[in-house]
Formats: sequence, structure tokens, C-alpha cells
Amino acid sequence: MIRDGFGRSFQTLRISLLNRCNFACTYCVDEDSRLVEKKEILQVEEWIRLVSELHSFLNLKKVRLTGGEPTLYPGLNSLVKKLKDIGIPEVSLTTNGSNLSKQAFDLKKAGLDSVNISLDGITPESFHTMSRRSAFKQTLSGIDIAVSSGLNVRINCTLVREKNEDQIIPILEYSWNKGVLPRFLELMKMGYLQKTNEIPILTQDEILNRIESEYGTLIPQVRKISSTANYWNTSEGNSFGIIANESAPFCKDCDRLRLDSQGNLYGCLSSATGFPLFQLREQGIDMEQVLILALRQKQEVRFKGSDLTMMAIGG
Ligand code: SAM
Ligand code: SF4
Repeated sequence: MIRDGFGRSFQTLRISLLNRCNFACTYCVDEDSRLVEKKEILQVEEWIRLVSELHSFLNLKKVRLTGGEPTLYPGLNSLVKKLKDIGIPEVSLTTNGSNLSKQAFDLKKAGLDSVNISLDGITPESFHTMSRRSAFKQTLSGIDIAVSSGLNVRINCTLVREKNEDQIIPILEYSWNKGVLPRFLELMKMGYLQKTNEIPILTQDEILNRIESEYGTLIPQVRKISSTANYWNTSEGNSFGIIANESAPFCKDCDRLRLDSQGNLYGCLSSATGFPLFQLREQGIDMEQVLILALRQKQEVRFKGSDLTMMAIGG
């Protein structure tokens, strides 16, 4: 097992299946371009070959499929099934939810274990402000069907100051009523946000203050090793999480490895330079050496920002 000086290795692989999306969230892309670069996508068998090879070195615990919007990937069901067949213990999906009402049952049947659904507003107006789309009803129905299908569902809400901070309590209430776990994400300096001096971030403390003023004292839960989120319970026993890249960084025990839609490998979100696996393998480069180099990309303490867009690397 390869490890770096901090004892870190790779146990979780995130694959960005394609760099296209049917939404144009304001914090992800700078303008509503429906002509996002459309590169060739990798076929299911190509992904399986890459993941099998990585799995043989790393004994992966989990693969998360993301994007762009992964539900637009034509072979999604088949990929999920084959990932389970090659022995990946947990396969999960991160999606904007807009296609899930058509796909959730089949994905569950194919072996998908869990799904994180992004939802940044719980009124049609706030949903549109964040996503630049009017797919509010489709997304809500996607959440309902995902829950009915038996998938483990979590709601991820990315908060932007003065845009959707008023949605914190409504998102909590909505999620708890559905029996799903809500989580809030601090804004990250990715893509076009990397070029701005100050980003409109709402910090973990600010989020906690809002929640505490509504529900009283919060009880922190013990953080699991390699977890991106910190979790709290209200006195009534409802849970929520915060992923605070900026104010509570979690690089010290990060176990994540990433592949973009062209098969470039990244050991850290802070690095905009990936290792082109297909080309390197054609040149006969040893996969273990590539993984050691990828491990060296990891930051010691915190995310530093990156020119890569989240739409390309998948979060
Ligand atoms: N399209 C899918 C979705 O929205 O869930 C998957 C890809 S999206 C890039 C994955 C996650 O990254 C989403 O939860 C999104 O809110 C988050 N995200 C995108 N840009 C971000 C940024 N600048 N800071 C923090 N989170 C971001
Ligand atoms: Fe699409 Fe997800 Fe980016 Fe929104 S956050 S534009 S849904 S890739």
C-alpha cells in the first residue's frame, strides 16, 4: 500500500464522467453557456479497465460518480453494475437530481448504494437564482423517487452569501421531513472564482450560528477519519453536516483520488494538472509510480484554490 509522510493513501475514487451539464449553477460556471465544451466521453469498458487497475493497487473502498451531470452519461446503469461486479464495495452518485425520477429505480437495481443530490434552494425562485434553470419540480420529484427506490439519499446545499443564505432553515426542515440528511457546503475557489479576490463564502461558524438561533444548542458528533463533513445533532435528534473546506479543512487525512472525464488522474483538488493515464500507460509507465506522484499533490493543511472548474473535476 502506498502512503505519504502523513500516512495518507487513496481509498476513495471520484470519477467525473463528463464535463457537461444541464444546469449552469452560478458558483460552478461564470455564465449561462449552453455550449460547454463537449469532448469525447470514455466508454463504460474504458472506465472499468482504468478502475480495475487502480483497484488492484489501492483496494478501493468507494467509487463516487460525478460530473458535470453524471445522469447524462449514456452508460450509467451499466457502469454502476460493472463497478459492483469488479468488487467495489460502495458505489455512489453526486447529481443535481433533475433526471433521477426516471433513473433512480434502475440505478438502485444496478447496485448503486447512495446518492448525494444538490439542492441550493427550496423555492422555485431561489432554485433558479442558483442553478439558472427552472427544473425545480423535476429535482424535487427526483429526490422523492430516489428515497422511494431505497437509495441512501443526502442533500448537498452550496451556500453563497446574499444569494441563498435564507434557505438554510427551509432546507433543513425539508430534508428532515423527507428523512434524508442535509449538508451545507462552503463555497470553494474553483474555476472562475479562483480569479476573484474575495468569494462570497458563508463560513461554518456563520452557518452554525443561524442553525443554533433556530434550534438551540447543537451537539457535535465525532468526525470519522477521512470525512469531508463535520456533523451535529439538534436537541431533538435531527442531524446535519457542513463541508467546510475553508474554515475547517480536512486535508490531513484525505483519502480521495480523482479522474476527470478524459481519464486524467488528480491526487488533490488544489492541483490543476492531471496525469493523463491513457497516454502514460501507452508509454509503459508504471501505475504505482503515477499514484505516488499523485499522492505528492495533496496539500498538507488546506485547499489552495484551482483554475479547474467543478464541472470538469466533479467536486
Ligand atoms: N452536477 C452534479 C451536482 O451538481 O451535484 C455533480 C457535479 S457538481 C460539480 C458536485 C458538487 O460540487 C455540487 O454539490 C456542487 O454544488 C458543488 N460545487 C460546484 N462548484 C462549487 C464551488 N465553487 N464551491 C463549492 N462547491 C461547489
Ligand atoms: Fe452542473 Fe453540478 Fe455544476 Fe450545477 S454544480 S452547473 S449541476 S455540474
